[in-house]
Amino acid sequence: MDCIFCKIISGALGTELLAENEQAVAFADINPQAKTHILVVPRQHTVNISELENDTVLLGLFSLIREVSAQFTDGQFRLQFNAGEREGQSVFHTHAHILSQSGN
Ligand code: 5GP
Ligand code: ZN
Repeated sequence: MDCIFCKIISGALGTELLAENEQAVAFADINPQAKTHILVVPRQHTVNISELENDTVLLGLFSLIREVSAQFTDGQFRLQFNAGEREGQSVFHTHAHILSQSGN
């Protein structure tokens, strides 16, 4: 499958992972929109959060979001999921943006 985030997760692109668990990985956004801009991405390919129905994956994803936001921000941050091209989604593999004006 021609999915850039699946390639990152597989290690094919050599992207540094900031954190990971069984269900999800986290890495820095290549084009940061805030001082801290981290993407948290389920290992399993789904197109967007609307299609992510697996409770185990959801729990792992949100667990990693909590861990990364605690480690890389001061506790103040924004969490964003884009679903659909019209609403700004450009990579069609589910991902959460963690955005913060703080950095650790
Ligand atoms: P979306 O617009 O789909 O919600 O967000 C996709 C995000 O992925 C964008 O913020 C974009 O900068 C980031 N991105 C796209 N390609 C790559 C890549 O190859 N590596 C990394 N680290 N981020 C990427
Ligand atoms: Zn994918």
